[in-house]
Amino acid sequence: MADETSGHAAEKQKTGKIPGGVWIKCKNCSETVFGPELEKNLLVCPLCDYHYPMPARARVAMLADEGTFEERDTDVAPYDVLEFVDSKPYTQRIAAMQEKTGLKDAILAGNAEIDGIAVSLAAMDFGFIGGSMGSVVGEVIARTFKRGLEIGAPVVAAAASGGARMQEGIVSLMQLGKTNAARAELAEARLPYIVLISDPTTAGVMASFAAVGDVLVGEPGALMGFAGPRVIRETIHQELPPGFQRAEFQRDHGFLDVIAHRHEIRDVIEKLIRYFTSGQPN
Ligand SMILES: [Zn+2]
Repeated sequence: MADETSGHAAEKQKTGKIPGGVWIKCKNCSETVFGPELEKNLLVCPLCDYHYPMPARARVAMLADEGTFEERDTDVAPYDVLEFVDSKPYTQRIAAMQEKTGLKDAILAGNAEIDGIAVSLAAMDFGFIGGSMGSVVGEVIARTFKRGLEIGAPVVAAAASGGARMQEGIVSLMQLGKTNAARAELAEARLPYIVLISDPTTAGVMASFAAVGDVLVGEPGALMGFAGPRVIRETIHQELPPGFQRAEFQRDHGFLDVIAHRHEIRDVIEKLIRYFTSGQPN
């Protein structure tokens, strides 16, 4: 989000909304946009169509039928197992992020309905330490799959992440296996799993549960991949093709199934769920 909004970041993140009466400079097209207009447009710039990162609560509100979301896993909170300190202690970093986002960690999950169909739903929040996956995100994603199994429902996950939570070291890396093991159980039960990939979704999350949906839906222009373009360029000492690792590039190379504008994502996911669940009881 543009710097001009930083004073309102806490309020925006807490409510999933941008406070009223604020003019912001679009970070993509540099034009001035009226905050409420951007919010009404699902945080897509009305002038250049840039898709801003969506706070988890706004994402859930966008995907779930109104009034159907029942939050779960509110008891799962981060723990500083390594007593890690970088530029500040991890415990302080967590507290500041919880204050900023109103979330315990970088994820919001629960049961909901999409077009009247029960789903187990999870949405990541890039605003919480770059949407990084530590023990909480891994546990909540695993529980999201388990809830899908319990209620016999499709799982929908909205990913947005810079990767593993460095402050949790090996514990964060263990979440790759943990989330994929839970995902495998859902597959064995032949229940559908739809992933929405937003900008950016990289590293440990892209290398685990975000890559193994039955269908991968991407937002336009979203960066998705394991290592980022800069790291790859510096490693192989070659110039990368235009649009490398962006949604359109990944779709054209068979990695992503479909790109949907944010205004159309709900319809696309609805159709996918209907397609996968037709013929099943309920
Ligand atoms: Zn713009």
